[in-house]
Amino acid sequence: MQKETFESIVQIRAVRQNKLLSVIVPVYNEANGISAFHERLEAALAKAPVNRTELIYINDGSKDSSLELLKTIADVNPSVQVIDFSRNFGKEAAMTAGINKSHGDAAVIIDSDLQDPPELIPEMVRQWQNGYDIINMRRRSRLGETILKKKTAQMFYTFMRFLGPVKMPENVGDFRLLSRRAIEALKQMPERNRFMKGMFAWIGFPVKEILYQRDPRFADKTKWNYWGLFNLAVEGITSYTIAPLRISTYLGLAVSLATFSYGIFILVCTILYGDPVKGFPTLIIAILFLGGLQLLAIGLVGEYLGRIFMETKNRPLYIVKNHYQRISAPLAIPEEKSKRNVQ
Ligand code: UDP
Ligand code: MG
Repeated sequence: MQKETFESIVQIRAVRQNKLLSVIVPVYNEANGISAFHERLEAALAKAPVNRTELIYINDGSKDSSLELLKTIADVNPSVQVIDFSRNFGKEAAMTAGINKSHGDAAVIIDSDLQDPPELIPEMVRQWQNGYDIINMRRRSRLGETILKKKTAQMFYTFMRFLGPVKMPENVGDFRLLSRRAIEALKQMPERNRFMKGMFAWIGFPVKEILYQRDPRFADKTKWNYWGLFNLAVEGITSYTIAPLRISTYLGLAVSLATFSYGIFILVCTILYGDPVKGFPTLIIAILFLGGLQLLAIGLVGEYLGRIFMETKNRPLYIVKNHYQRISAPLAIPEEKSKRNVQ
């Protein structure tokens, strides 16, 4: 049995060498660090056990000179392409564009702010060659992040795990490797509300986790503020599970039962002891509490209704303004793939 497993691993390894690796990099206002990032990425990719690489930078509507820098990189490097969005569509849309454009037998998604060390890519590729479909990079610690952000992130993951239909790994960001069949599975998920962490967990497949030290940002500050993160958390929960709706049903049921018992109690008391004008505190607490609860439940239904509204509009996830690639250079892509490459 063990020998068989060993042989199949050797077989998969042999098949998965000589392959094309795509690297997907979302970029939003990273002019200060993008050149340093590209240098480190190139050096790391040279050590990866694959034959060819394809670098897809997605310029997510940067307002600085990121696009110019990316174009200069693509000008001299035929394996680099730049997808330029018509405006800022957000990181999830940028990652989706990269996934849709990639031709690789495997693809790595990596941030361009050097928080995810590119030097880990060769190890990720090796794990993929060992037969795993998804290599999740798990942060050992979150350097350069406030205690409040760490705590709220932890609370979010605990809550998601409590609610969710599939277990979402904790402290795993978007830095990961996906095999071709995992990419194809993702491409079958056309939803507009894209909470990628949930989607990566949902598709299944053999997953391997690698622990790593997440570095602080190389330049500038994160683009996320707390309000943005809170909204992302609400979006994450409501696009991932309908458990909050069920919870509000149960809560409504529990409150109705409690109110019913309390009603009988009041009724019996009134019959036995008459009706002294008392109980303003009880009354006002009950009214406010129930009012709040009702608003919360309506808000929740509204959240889901809003999601349905967005889904039914069926808009594209992003608009590409330009696609830069040095096509004149001989691309070492097999016949069938190069045909697909033509837009
Ligand atoms: N990013 C993007 N679009 C956005 C925001 C961010 O493409 O609207 C990119 C950004 O350039 C970086 C990555 O997504 O490569 C992660 O962004 P950031 O470092 O701000 O997020 P954090 O690391 O704090 O999660
Ligand atoms: Mg970052």
